[in-house]
Amino acid sequence: MSELHLTCDCRSVVAAVQNISSRTSNRVVCYCSDCQAFARHLGRVDVMDESGGTFLTQIPPAKLTLVTGQEHVHCVRLSPKGMYRWFTACCHTPLANSIPGFPFVGVFDHVFNDKQALSNTAGPVLGAVHTRRAVGPIPESMKERHELTLIAGTLKKLLRWKLHGLTHPNPFHKKGGQALALPEILSQ
Ligand SMILES: [Zn+2]
Ligand SMILES: [Zn+2]
Repeated sequence: MSELHLTCDCRSVVAAVQNISSRTSNRVVCYCSDCQAFARHLGRVDVMDESGGTFLTQIPPAKLTLVTGQEHVHCVRLSPKGMYRWFTACCHTPLANSIPGFPFVGVFDHVFNDKQALSNTAGPVLGAVHTRRAVGPIPESMKERHELTLIAGTLKKLLRWKLHGLTHPNPFHKKGGQALALPEILSQ
């Protein structure tokens, strides 16, 4: 069994990801304006690349466990229909994005303690999405895979994770939909 360790910057929040592989993960850089707005809201533009890209590893919710410091885990939504964006109140570290009932959580690469171990188990970053929102040049290596191909591959994985019953348990959402913390909605 392989386990990856995750911590917020002040190490009050500890989480773990169990037994992922390239089939049970999906690594992308997201340049969408919502991800950029979230980083700005937290005062953490430093977690993005210089073109506004957020490095995320999407995994089935059942693979993620919060180990300690749950009380520091807070949530915002940019709008009433926005994704749940989880961060730590102790040190404003972005943790993950989720949608209740969906078979994935998008974990920020920033919180994985050992990026090499992450690459060894989950494989490389596959490419970039929402590149039209990038605020600077995108590395050539990120452009190799066409965005639509990447999205199609992601959907196929999500369906497989759902069929394999990996939507629950989800550390952020109970089966009935109740969230770990009430999200603050930033714009009505
Ligand atoms: Zn912290
Ligand atoms: Zn995004």
